[in-house]
Amino acid sequence: MKKFLFLVASISLFVFYSCQKPQENEKPYLIMLSLDGFRWDYPVYASTPVLDSLQKAGVIAESLKPSFPTKTFPNHYTIATGLYPDHNGLVGNSFYAPGLKKFFRISDRAAVENGAFYGGEPIWVTAEKQNVRAATFFWVGSEAKIDGMRPDYWYKYNRSVPFKSRVDSVKHWLSLPQNERPHLILWYYYQPDHIGHKAGPYGEKTIAMVEKLDSLLGYYFTQMRKLPEFNRLNFIITSDHGMAEISNDRVVLLDQVIDTADIDMIVGSNPNFNIKVKPGKLEKVYRQLKNTPHIFAWKHDSVPRRLHYGHNPRTLDITVVAYPGWSVLSGRIRNVGKGAHGYDNDFKDMRAIFYAAGPAFKKGFIHPTFENVNIYPLITTIMDLKPAKNDGDIKNTESMLRIK
Ligand code: AMP
Ligand code: ZN
Ligand code: ZN
Repeated sequence: MKKFLFLVASISLFVFYSCQKPQENEKPYLIMLSLDGFRWDYPVYASTPVLDSLQKAGVIAESLKPSFPTKTFPNHYTIATGLYPDHNGLVGNSFYAPGLKKFFRISDRAAVENGAFYGGEPIWVTAEKQNVRAATFFWVGSEAKIDGMRPDYWYKYNRSVPFKSRVDSVKHWLSLPQNERPHLILWYYYQPDHIGHKAGPYGEKTIAMVEKLDSLLGYYFTQMRKLPEFNRLNFIITSDHGMAEISNDRVVLLDQVIDTADIDMIVGSNPNFNIKVKPGKLEKVYRQLKNTPHIFAWKHDSVPRRLHYGHNPRTLDITVVAYPGWSVLSGRIRNVGKGAHGYDNDFKDMRAIFYAAGPAFKKGFIHPTFENVNIYPLITTIMDLKPAKNDGDIKNTESMLRIK
């Protein structure tokens, strides 16, 4: 009798585990690639057959609206956290954090790797906390310990790692044994932003880069299709912001309109800056900036609400941003190049791309433009994760999903 009961217990345990295991294996996958500075309408100017085919295989958004300021670090971290830059702490590519008494600059490795600068909960931390393995091949924030956590697999930023090697790593991760395999992967490539600054959004070299990237996406999907799990993979291809055409003929020099003796610090880069003024000088400096043509200047009680900006102490006293297509410089005068971003996010040239495909997504679906704070709750929904507090709402994207 004892032996019989033991047998029944062992069989039930076996049945229990074999029912559990497939569930574990059936956890959804999400692989998101960001191509820096890929403007929403580049596929109109360039030939992009791979992206066009994604449109048929899945979802394309008319465009993705970035958050203000439309720079690389704030927006990648907004995509990762679902929080506007004012709420996630990355209020610019460079800023001063009064609470930490430290500057943040993207070229400063110690700052980039210092978790104290990064607020909110990035999606890889959300995943790790809920026992889902995550990997990043470069994503803003993933080189720092946030909430004491990093992705299971991650690298220190090195721009020169070729696109194809990054694809090969993604493929390798997805080929790992199930208990080591990440189900959430974020990866990044610095083009076409880099060439867009030099050649401008309509430059021949920029269009050629967009076409090259499209053929590299062909390599990416060819490699992904070789994976036994391919039919279970959900893909997002997106970007942090667009690119506007600028010229050396449209430049505002801050040092010519304000008295540098009134200023404590000017932090930022073309076309936007945060300014801290000396005590008693706020009204004077604000008036001077307000009266300067081709720039907007806001004290932090007057930033338009739609920008969700100006409450974080890191935004200092005054925010300045150039009119679309204009440049604003502080310090030495220099060649501004042919392309820039960082402007008001209502400026259409700042918009980015959003493509998605996989079992979670509808096929041949065109989604209206949406804000990038909504990507975080979209991913938590697809991956069945409990989201941390964020500024997005799944209602803004759920019509693109097959599952609800
Ligand atoms: P920007 O165009 O100034 O907003 O910034 C784009 C630059 O950010 C690209 O040229 C990248 O090389 C750089 N970048 C992206 N991710 C990182 C990172 N994790 N660490 C340092 N630099 C980065
Ligand atoms: Zn960027
Ligand atoms: Zn850029």
